[in-house]
Amino acid sequence: MIRDHFRVLRVDLASGRGELLELEGRNEVAGGSGLAALLFERFARLDRPWDDPEQPLIFAIGPLTGYFPLMSKTVCAFRSPYHDQYAESHAGGRSALALRFADLDALVLTGRAACPSCLLVGSRQLELRDAHYLWGSDVLTAGKALRRMFRGSGHRSILRIGPAGENRSAMACINADTYRHFGRLGGGAVMGAKNVKALCLVGDASFPLPEGRAYTQVFDEVHRQVTATEMMRKYHNLGTPANVAVLNGLRALPCRNLQQTSDPQVEGITGERFADAALLRNSACSGCPVGCIHVGFVREKFMADNRYLFRQVAYDFEPIFSIGSMLGVFDAFAVLGLLDAVERMGLDVMSAGVALAWATEATEKDLVAEAETAVGLRFGDAETYKAAVAHLARGTNDFYRLLASGTRNAAARYGGDDFACVLGQEMAGYASGEVFFVGQALGLRHSHLDVGGYTYEEKHPERDAGAAVAFYEADERERAVLTSMVACLFARGVYTATLLAECLRCVGYEALAQDLGALGREVQKRRWRARLATGYQPEAVTIPKRFAEVENWKGGIDPGFLSQLQAAYARRIRELGGQAPA
Ligand code: SF4
Repeated sequence: MIRDHFRVLRVDLASGRGELLELEGRNEVAGGSGLAALLFERFARLDRPWDDPEQPLIFAIGPLTGYFPLMSKTVCAFRSPYHDQYAESHAGGRSALALRFADLDALVLTGRAACPSCLLVGSRQLELRDAHYLWGSDVLTAGKALRRMFRGSGHRSILRIGPAGENRSAMACINADTYRHFGRLGGGAVMGAKNVKALCLVGDASFPLPEGRAYTQVFDEVHRQVTATEMMRKYHNLGTPANVAVLNGLRALPCRNLQQTSDPQVEGITGERFADAALLRNSACSGCPVGCIHVGFVREKFMADNRYLFRQVAYDFEPIFSIGSMLGVFDAFAVLGLLDAVERMGLDVMSAGVALAWATEATEKDLVAEAETAVGLRFGDAETYKAAVAHLARGTNDFYRLLASGTRNAAARYGGDDFACVLGQEMAGYASGEVFFVGQALGLRHSHLDVGGYTYEEKHPERDAGAAVAFYEADERERAVLTSMVACLFARGVYTATLLAECLRCVGYEALAQDLGALGREVQKRRWRARLATGYQPEAVTIPKRFAEVENWKGGIDPGFLSQLQAAYARRIRELGGQAPA
């Protein structure tokens, strides 16, 4: 059912009681990212740290969730353990549809449960259950138990944390259903700090679809574009792992802690190699006919007489880069085995891989000893990395606890900051040049998904800081509209402003449809305002020396352009958040 307000359930975890709120602002912020920023502004405590029980953990969906394909994301917002500032993390899976069928636009968790617990939320259900017996269990074990505890397969979504979240690691993710994650900036630690092992969202109600032909016509057009045209084919064919060979060919694939940008062994981890040898099937988020989730397998011998067990593991480009090329692991099955270990621990795979790549180089340079790493880290040694992943998630000693708080924190203690591959947070897998490096380093979520710097760089070899900042601003605003609708960003070629307006109009959001530009500006402003209000200083961000040493298809990095771009974008960020430049 469409409504011009937001229906938000706020749950106080200390008491287990919920309060339904009706909040204004639909026409200003739409939902998703915009709603998350609005709720953060309303509920966050700026004077308290990220793990204060009163800080909110927010899950928000958009106005088109349930009405159109690929409106499949949930936006999770919180004060991050990584930098103690505003953060958003997005995940697909089933949670968005479960919230829609639970008749909620958003869920806000505040307080801290008295003991490790699971929270069940539905349209007519709210229950906080003692789950101390699950505390300490890995993500797969907890998942099996939770699926038995909470019936309703197909209608429910289970979000859960592993040991990393329980230990409040700034690299802890929230695992969403089986193959998706709220990966970056430590949302899992926020759940852990609230004593919530799992959140089960039950879509136990229904909602009517619009009557009349307008809706079905627009739906058919969207469906046609995502299924019958070439536009989305690359995502379900090889999927994002196709980028491995492409970036390696461009000498823009970070390898061995970005000491190289290509490697002759890359054939072992290309999208083609995974598809030929390891791909079992494709899977999809609820409501998505594309199915870009590629599921491979790992198998382990558990008895001498050829007895094996196997598990299914989803892979994408980012995990392949972070625990493959970045760690010098160039074997598809070794990558999947390592990915399985990361998954179990509830770590963000990108952060974990990049952190361990730094630790390996620091070991090679004798800055860190084996007494600290507990295992002998060596590029290419996947089995040893599996053990290191467990140390990182469980924080077994001072070294791993510090590393889990951020690679640069460890580098500040042990040395090696010049080769810490951190751009605001541990880097994404594109060594494409200055525009990408500054875009991730300063961007709102420090994510390759905030602005598409790598694609800009391919088309614009010129070094023009003004043009690049204008690109950051426009691209981020366009994406802010999509993430406020909670559209999967893979569908940004389908959901043009014109088609989005038609979608909104035919379900009844006429006012929103009228000016998506104004929506983008408003959401952009609110998100930056939230980030700046929690202490972000974009002009203070530094980019480690390793990035200035990168050589790729364009040649070398220009350090002067890097600094000029950084200063210009920092000024613009202040303005976007409504502040005078520092
Ligand atoms: S394209 Fe992939 S990530 Fe996007 S909604 Fe579909 S399955 Fe999910």
